Amino acid sequence: MNRRGLVTGVDGFQHQARKRFGQNFLHDEHVIARIVKAITPAPNQHLIEIGPGQGAITAPLLALGKGLSVIEIDRDLAAHLRQRFGANPGFTLIERDVLEVDFAQFTTTPRSLRILGNLPYNISTPLLFHLLRYQALIHDMVFMLQREVVDRLAAQPGTADYGRLSVMMQYHCKVERLFNVRPSAFNPPPKVESAIVRLEPWPTPPHPVRDEKLFADLVREAFNQRRKTVRNALKQRVNAAQWQRSHLDPALRPENLSLGDYARITAIITGENGVEEQAKEQAKEHEERTDP
Ligand code: SAM
Repeated sequence: MNRRGLVTGVDGFQHQARKRFGQNFLHDEHVIARIVKAITPAPNQHLIEIGPGQGAITAPLLALGKGLSVIEIDRDLAAHLRQRFGANPGFTLIERDVLEVDFAQFTTTPRSLRILGNLPYNISTPLLFHLLRYQALIHDMVFMLQREVVDRLAAQPGTADYGRLSVMMQYHCKVERLFNVRPSAFNPPPKVESAIVRLEPWPTPPHPVRDEKLFADLVREAFNQRRKTVRNALKQRVNAAQWQRSHLDPALRPENLSLGDYARITAIITGENGVEEQAKEQAKEHEERTDP
């Protein structure tokens, strides 16, 4: 990057990096190769890159010889990408805000989309929730994110990083941290560390609930007041009898309830069969494990 913020791509294309679009362009060949390796597509899978920028990952992805759709919001970059890759029959460019893109347009085949991107950090959380709507169509998502966000995605109960993002993403996806990336791999270098994560929607979630909307509401409301006990944070939703039937301690804080616990309390509220017996069994197992 020169002093005026111009970033030169591998093919000599110069671009003024735009902060509002979170533009930090990858130039580290080793990191680019590791990302591409993580996505090796099978036949019948469709590749989608979010925010291709100057094409650092796009070029090696196209070289795999599969179809590739890219989604880019920046008009100048889109024009450059069209010029550079437009002649390739497998290449499709969507010049749009990814948050407005309907991912159902790419396929009707379940679990066939391979989505990847070095994501603009300012939209990463809304984008993850947007993509969850299409989870049935997605095989996996490989994303470069702010390291802190990856820590939250992978966090376990009882830790400071554990919150709504952890519970919701782990409900829907297997979360696998792949590797960390230093700021020097980008041009201009971001102020934060980055990491690559793979999110793979479960064919069947490990703790399925019938009412996913209620589950999402409970999790949001609990973590909106993470310093309160769950009894207080969820007092509009869960009564004393329901807490008792769940065999969960309502004096716990939201961060101490596991994904399975949130699923269980949801099922108690909706009166799903067998949940109470399951809760009793789990409470007994827990006692046996902790009782010497
Ligand atoms: N993939 C390139 C790389 O690794 O060098 C660029 C990564 S840069 C961190 C993020 C890219 O996402 C930029 O090209 C930016 O213009 C694009 N972008 C930002 N917000 C976007 C949005 N809402 N929809 C689509 N693309 C967006």
